[in-house]
Amino acid sequence: MSKVIIIGAGGVAGVVAKKCAQNDSVFTEVLIATRTVSKADRIVAEIHEHFPQSRAKFTTATVDADNVPELVGLIQGFGPAMVINVALPYQDLTIMDACLETGVHYLDTANYEPRDVAKFEYSWQWAYQDRFKEKGLMALLGCGFDPGATQAFTAYLAKHHFAEIHELDIVDCNNGDHGKAFATNFNPEINIREITANGRYWENGQWVETRPLEISQDIYYPKVATRKSFVLYHEELESIVKHFPTIRRARFWMTFGENYIKHLNVLEGIGMTSIEPIDFRGQKIAPIEFLKAVLPAPESLAANYTGQTCIGVQAKGPGKNGKPNVHFVYNVKDHAECYREVQAQGVSYTTGVPAMIGAMLMLSGTWMQPGVWNVEQLDPDPFIDAMNTWGLPVDELAGIELVKA
Ligand code: NDP
Repeated sequence: MSKVIIIGAGGVAGVVAKKCAQNDSVFTEVLIATRTVSKADRIVAEIHEHFPQSRAKFTTATVDADNVPELVGLIQGFGPAMVINVALPYQDLTIMDACLETGVHYLDTANYEPRDVAKFEYSWQWAYQDRFKEKGLMALLGCGFDPGATQAFTAYLAKHHFAEIHELDIVDCNNGDHGKAFATNFNPEINIREITANGRYWENGQWVETRPLEISQDIYYPKVATRKSFVLYHEELESIVKHFPTIRRARFWMTFGENYIKHLNVLEGIGMTSIEPIDFRGQKIAPIEFLKAVLPAPESLAANYTGQTCIGVQAKGPGKNGKPNVHFVYNVKDHAECYREVQAQGVSYTTGVPAMIGAMLMLSGTWMQPGVWNVEQLDPDPFIDAMNTWGLPVDELAGIELVKA
């Protein structure tokens, strides 16, 4: 029986809102607030069309989430128990500030990133620890799929299958086809910044830096395909190696098709992925922002998307019996099935469902505790149970090494 505000009205927000509509015994009143309110209105219209039986009440509002006083006014006017932030990583700190000022809980799906430096790390948000604790408020960071479910999988592996985890490989395969020459599956600016940055993985107590897409191997993704996968840096590695200090090596792998890499190389080569503003007809504009305006909106890919995603975590180390063990926990999701259910593609779906689940576990008290938390610090079992209930079935594969050393 809770009121929540969802900030943002993109692909992920649409899924969170529709999952709240399905889970109407928990989410009774939802305000979708964003910069372009027509996008929030469209989500609500789709909810009325596709989920007419939902008892949850939806309203919309305009907000500039870079502006703390505006956010404070919005939150005070609606009086929610928590804010689900699915705008962009640039807004994390302003929304956390507004939550502190108004005394409401906070959840997001991506860690803070300054707009002008291609750098993401948890330090900025971890610095809110004492303030959230003192106010008796909870902030749950990075509760999408990766980050998010991948950390719950890591905690689950540690809880049920390992005495100690020594090697951890997070693997993310999108084996889908949207039929476009080039498009990104979530916000293009954030996605391209992530891929064109240097790679990084954890080994023997320190970070090892790689050139972008320097390390690759063919990985078999159960029920989906064998796909070439590349090491890149992903934010959950930072918190996982902090909270599981037995880990000697942690890597993150993602698939990219040849066509995608070819387009990205050209765009990078000609400067279109740069975040450095240039002068264009008297206006300062970052080329990547212009590129975003040209590329298809991620949510527009949904209608004709085919194929599946497979995201999972492989752990190695001594098992509960002390013997060497390797174990893989994963989810496979079909793009077309997501579209039929919530009019979204698989990448938005696999992010939005864990966000709704995290919010539910906070509101129900199961996960609620004051302070700033990463997902792997919390009990994974209720989260994984809820994934199975809410559309992201979790599978396991024992004794087979999918990712090679
Ligand atoms: P979109 O770009 O589709 O949507 C972002 C939304 O935020 C838009 O509605 C946008 O409004 C709104 N927004 C941007 N700036 C502001 C602002 N200043 N004030 C108010 N609203 C604003 O992104 P996605 O839905 O694809 O992704 C949402 C979040 O999820 C991102 O942070 C992304 O990094 C994260 N993500 C996490 C994943 C995970 O597994 N953990 C995977 C995929 C994404 P407007 O339309 O007006 O620009």
